[in-house]
Amino acid sequence: MVQSVLTVDLAALRHNWRSLASCSDAEAGAVVKADAYGLGAGRVANMLAKEGVRRFFVALTEEGAALRKAVGSGPEINVFSGHMPGDAQMLKAAQLTPMINSIDQMLRHVESLPGHPFGIQLDSGMNRLGMEPAEWSALREIALAQQPTLVMSHLACADEPDHPMNAHQLNVFRQMTDGIDAPRSLSATGGILLGPDYHFDVTRPGIGMYGGLPFLDAQPVAHLHIPVIQTREVDAGESVGYGNTWVARHPTRVATIAAGYADGILRAMGPKAYVFADETRCKILGRISMDLICVDVSELDAVPDMVELLGVHQGVDSIAETAGTIGYEILTSLGGRYERRYID
Ligand SMILES: *Cc1c(COP(=O)(O)O)cnc(C)c1O
Repeated sequence: MVQSVLTVDLAALRHNWRSLASCSDAEAGAVVKADAYGLGAGRVANMLAKEGVRRFFVALTEEGAALRKAVGSGPEINVFSGHMPGDAQMLKAAQLTPMINSIDQMLRHVESLPGHPFGIQLDSGMNRLGMEPAEWSALREIALAQQPTLVMSHLACADEPDHPMNAHQLNVFRQMTDGIDAPRSLSATGGILLGPDYHFDVTRPGIGMYGGLPFLDAQPVAHLHIPVIQTREVDAGESVGYGNTWVARHPTRVATIAAGYADGILRAMGPKAYVFADETRCKILGRISMDLICVDVSELDAVPDMVELLGVHQGVDSIAETAGTIGYEILTSLGGRYERRYID
């Protein structure tokens, strides 16, 4: 057996959600798009529903339908992409709430699902998704008359607290929504940490619950342990891996571990990244292959059965940095070949 083990610490996730929820008086929802950032939307959402989460957020209608099966009929499930052609039946059957992003979506929604709940997504400057101020002015009274369950927008720079874009978007969102009766939502993890001005009625934490930045106090949730298949002694002058990119300067003990870029361990990490054997850092040698990685275990007295790539010694953001990316991409890249264990 050389299956790597991805352990999802639901107790840590619960702790992180509680900490983010307690930062504000607003109702804390939970974003579980992309299979809960790769960690298993069904398991994660069920735990959070028990914790009291009443609103979940997903990106796609199909994700919402799968989530509905997992959590049952209670919580509201909001779909960021809104009401797209062909969605009506699934939105209805799974009782999903589309976030309406345009006048076209609004028309489609009232024609195909009259009386079905919806929310509104506004674009306050990110120019990605949602109605712009002019579009919103045209639709506002008609839409509000039908009592949207939520009116939301999204911040582009919330992970940079000093960025002037934050205050700018806050202003625009206020101008677009001050005085309305519907609950309002502006903040994901980063916005929650910007303080109460940004909280409104509902928050939408994602990455912080899963142990990632910008939530500095997050406990690690994903732990990845990879089995060692083989070790060998490599003499000075010999190379390791594809393309001979690493050449030993002195005799080196090399362990080959059973995971690679097919498992979401990005090739770009190779030259800078380490794994941990208990407390000892072991450098990745040469290129990361599809299913295998070689690491330097010269420092170890004994080579363990498994080494750690993600966990207490190395979080998603430090490993992300070695590949020039962000924790979000590391989590959502985690592959399908791992044995997944949930601890609570
Ligand atoms: C992904 C997403 C979130 C969650 O963001 P985090 O940074 O992971 O907390 C919230 N709102 C919207 C619109 C999103 O796309």
